[in-house]
Order: sequence, then structure tokens, then C-alpha cells
Amino acid sequence: MASKDRIGFVGLGNMGAPMARRLAAAGYALTVADALPEVEQRFAAEVNCERAASLAALGERCQVVITMLPNGAIVREVLLGTNGIAHRLAAGSVVVDMSSSSPIGTRELFADLAKLGIPLVDAPVSGGVKKAADGTLAIMVGGDPEPIARVRPVLEVMGKVFLTGASGTGHAMKALNNFLSAANLAVAAEAVIAGERFGLNPATMIDILNASTGRNTGTDSKFPNNVLPRTFNSGFALGLMAKDLRLALEVARSSGAPASLLEMCSQIWSNAEQQLGAKADNTEVVKYLESLVPPRPAGSGGRHA
Ligand code: NAD
Repeated sequence: MASKDRIGFVGLGNMGAPMARRLAAAGYALTVADALPEVEQRFAAEVNCERAASLAALGERCQVVITMLPNGAIVREVLLGTNGIAHRLAAGSVVVDMSSSSPIGTRELFADLAKLGIPLVDAPVSGGVKKAADGTLAIMVGGDPEPIARVRPVLEVMGKVFLTGASGTGHAMKALNNFLSAANLAVAAEAVIAGERFGLNPATMIDILNASTGRNTGTDSKFPNNVLPRTFNSGFALGLMAKDLRLALEVARSSGAPASLLEMCSQIWSNAEQQLGAKADNTEVVKYLESLVPPRPAGSGGRHA
């Protein structure tokens, strides 16, 4: 990437803000935009950057555009909608979508941007808010080699780059990773709820699972940090995980791959989203599963402390 290139960063939410903060700290010139003016204002008050006058103006100012938005439909709208960024980008500029977007939608967007002479790189991330702040995200990168080489130094400020192949493969990899992440939490929750009903202590169960073959990211991270303390504050919304599971299903169904566990997992998150709302924390899926347990018969004892 040429040192004079300016980065346009769109989406300053839970993940976008710490990622853009790292880019500014690494010395990149930044132009930022968010749909919520107060979010944009808060970010610009603490980080050296300029606020975009409009999406079109961001397109005129920047040679690299990074999107960190809720989903691929919003990414498409921001880039190709009326007064969207892509219409104003100079040919040879690069768009990097770091959101968790639909892999199939990404391939369509790749083709549509190519008609304007603009390469699209998909570079979704895993690691959550803490790793975004530390610059230690796993970044799954799909697209053509030349634009990837151009933006690689920028990506390396935010985490470790893994090349996944052609356009859309980064987004497919991310959706499939989140299937495993969600399934880990769901199986841990079902085991703990069943064990507690049988008389086991949940905290003891988690200690034993983490010293045993049942260990996973649900038992070694989400239960101790977010579920047992009942803080449910992972910084990743339930609605975003439900979306990722639908995207993983899209990937599996596109090839007819077996997906019975994935279907069950997606159903659990969709039900939880309906009960608790999309803005609930994704770890609150445990509350949804707890709500399915019938009340104890009178006189049979209560929950463990
Ligand atoms: P978030 O909801 O906290 O942030 C999204 C931001 O995008 C918000 O500030 C919102 O105002 C802004 N936005 C929405 N529509 C916009 C538009 N049309 N124009 C400009 N800005 C717009 O979400 P997040 O948790 O930061 O997640 C962002 C993406 O990263 C999602 O695709 C998510 O699935 C993925 N992701 C999240 C995490 C996590 O732990 N939170 C981890 C990995 C990947």
C-alpha cells in the first residue's frame, strides 16, 4: 500500500472502533463514517482522524475502504447505493469488507465492483472486542492476490492474516467458524443445565470440563467470563450470531453438505433471538435454553448458588 493512501473506515461499532483505533495508532490517515453521528463523534473526539462529510466524499478522499458493518446487504448499500462510496472511488482503489457478510453476496459484490475497476477483498475476523483492541484478530482473507498484497500491511496492524482463496472464501470460513463457536456454547449450556438439574454445581462442572476432554470455547471462555458471573457481556450480539449461523447454512446448502447439527444450532439461535431480541448478548442464548427447563416439583430444592 502506498504510504500516501488514506483509509476510509465505515462502521465504528463494538469491533470497528478498536480496529480503526489501531490503524490510527499505526500512523494511517483515516476518514471515518458511521450511520450514528454520536458514535462517529465519540470516535473522532479521541482518535486522530477526519469525519466523512458523506459516503460519497469518503469515496473521493480514500484509496482503501474498510467496511465493518452488521451484514453484507448493508455493505452493498454503502458501496453501491445512491451516493455510495464505490461510484466515487478512483480505479485501482481497494475495498476490504471485514464484516461477517454472506459469502454468496460477496461473490456478487466482487463481480459488480469489478465492473467499476475496483477489487473487493473479503477479510472477516474472529477474536472479539478484546483481540480487536490488541491487534490479535484472526483475519480470513479471500480475493485476488494483487489487491490482497496491497492491503496486507494494513490488515497486519489488526491481526494475523490467513489466506483462504478466491472471493467469498474468507466469509465462508468465518461463518463456518462461528458455527463451531455457537455449537460449543450450546453443548456446554445443555450439559451444564442437565448436570445442575441432576445435582451438580455449574462452576465445579466447568472446572472439571476444562481439565477433561469436554473442554471447548464455551467451557474455557464464555462460561467462566460471561455466563457463570451472569454478566452476559461478550460484546457480540445474539442477532449477529444468528445471522452467522444462517450464513453457514447458506454455505452448506450451496453444496448439499450434511448440516443436521448446523440446522439445530441455527434454530436454537433464531428462537433465542425471537425471545430475547437481536441486541441481547450472544451468550444470553444460555438464558433461552434455561427457560426451556420445566419448573422443579415443589420441595425438590433450588438452583446451586
Ligand atoms: P455493531 O452493531 O457494534 O457495529 C456496527 C456499526 O455499523 C454500528 O456502529 C452502526 O451504527 C454502523 N452502521 C450500521 N449501518 C450502517 C450504515 N448503513 N452506514 C454506516 N454505518 C452503519 O457490530 P459489531 O459487533 O462491531 O460487528 C460488526 C461486524 O463484525 C458484524 O458483521 C459482526 O457479525 C462481525 N463480528 C463481530 C464480532 C464481535 O465480537 N462483536 C466479532 C467478529 C465479527
